[in-house]
Amino acid sequence: MASTAKAVESVISAAWGKPQSWTLDSYRSRGGYDGLKRALTMEPAAIIDEVKKSNLRGRGGAGFPTGMKWSFVPKDSPKPKYLAVNGDESEPGTFKDRYILENDPHMMLEGIAIASYALGVHTCYVYLRGEFKFQAERTQAAIDEAYKAGIFGKTMLGKDFALDCYVVRGAGAYICGEETALLESLEGKKGWPRLKPPFPAVVGLFGSPTVVNNVETLASVPPILAKGAEWYAKLGTEKSGGTHLVCLSGSVNRPGVYEVGMHTTILELIHDDQYGQGMPKGRKVKAVIPGGSSAPVLGADELDVALEFEALKMKQTMAGSGGVIVMDDATCMVRSLWRVARFYAEESCGQCTPCREGTPWQTRLLRKIEEGRADASDIDMLSNVASSIAPYPPIGLGNTICALGDAAALPTHSFLMRFRDEFEAHVREKRCPFGDHPWGSF
Ligand code: NAD
Ligand code: SF4
Repeated sequence: MASTAKAVESVISAAWGKPQSWTLDSYRSRGGYDGLKRALTMEPAAIIDEVKKSNLRGRGGAGFPTGMKWSFVPKDSPKPKYLAVNGDESEPGTFKDRYILENDPHMMLEGIAIASYALGVHTCYVYLRGEFKFQAERTQAAIDEAYKAGIFGKTMLGKDFALDCYVVRGAGAYICGEETALLESLEGKKGWPRLKPPFPAVVGLFGSPTVVNNVETLASVPPILAKGAEWYAKLGTEKSGGTHLVCLSGSVNRPGVYEVGMHTTILELIHDDQYGQGMPKGRKVKAVIPGGSSAPVLGADELDVALEFEALKMKQTMAGSGGVIVMDDATCMVRSLWRVARFYAEESCGQCTPCREGTPWQTRLLRKIEEGRADASDIDMLSNVASSIAPYPPIGLGNTICALGDAAALPTHSFLMRFRDEFEAHVREKRCPFGDHPWGSF
């Protein structure tokens, strides 16, 4: 397919690949920290209003309106307030935040400075997944530059406002990307999610009001302040402002991280020359997971849909963390679901029974089906086990403390709903109809 998709203005990724794009000099030469300069002339409440008007929605997965989240922080709290940046990017198929940290960390740091000033926060923690050693070093180097330039530290660009910023690396647990587990981990405890409410904006780190924002969310804030909320809102749709990053992986000719519009469809992302450049020769698309492995799968006839929160919600799935995983007609859906289910069984923290017991149970049943040892009742059992973790239809109806339970059950529901015939074929033929897989057993 030639390039027919509507052109998208690069807001986040404009500098990626340019020499030394991660340095303060490079960032300033592109107008970096102009948004902060403007913010420092405004009242904190006016900054929050500006972010609200921009229709920026959280880029970590849930798509919660950022300005609204900021407005939940009590203004007159006697306790200190905190900002925690969620850079524990671990959702399967998701690898976008690392590009921001590698290529343009000051964009996130400027977002941190603006958010902290608006919220009255004097301490920020950037929580990165343990494997992000290089990204942590690059972020720390940028923080050091920001201190030297008088952006962080006792004053902020000459204004009497102190902000300290620390990088913290996790120890490799997916669950620490769940915001309350992240806070537990920051407090030096085991990463066990807390029951919500209370939400972190009111009771968060060390019992104090805490805003938890994703890396890309904060990196989106400086352009909003520099160019105005109206400009940013107009780039997107009525309910989702701006552009966003998506991570394209699986069976496409050109996987990668792309900045797309809220109007860009999954079909355009797969086929357009600017993005995926189509499927490998001879292959056809069978299914797409649109928002990281937690998002319900879509079939081939459902892909003419914008990669945007509301549009995907209408299809009973979600934009999630922007991880678009493409599966072709040689893919066994039972085997794929088994792989996803193993991930959640491995990463469950074990706190609540439906998730702790249900996730390995799903894995055992899927293995039985894939290996041709199951009968028809096992497919019904699989559906029942998934319903015990989180009933269908989706979107926050789980029986568990955190969203990992939902994330483990929704793929099962959606694979069974859309590809049940493949599960039945495994039972009927007592083998995997797709034969041995070149990569063997996993
Ligand atoms: P959520 O809908 O419970 O909350 C979204 C955000 O809004 C949270 O910060 C929450 O504190 C806040 N919020 C919601 N209602 C509020 C209220 N009334 N008052 C104050 N604050 C409120 O979702 P979640 O559990 O935080 O996130 C789930 C998402 O995370 C999934 O959709 C998944 O896609 C995503 N995820 C992403 C990754 C990744 O690597 N990026 C990994 C795992 C999961
Ligand atoms: Fe832990 Fe799973 Fe319960 Fe989340 S749903 S708290 S991961 S057991």
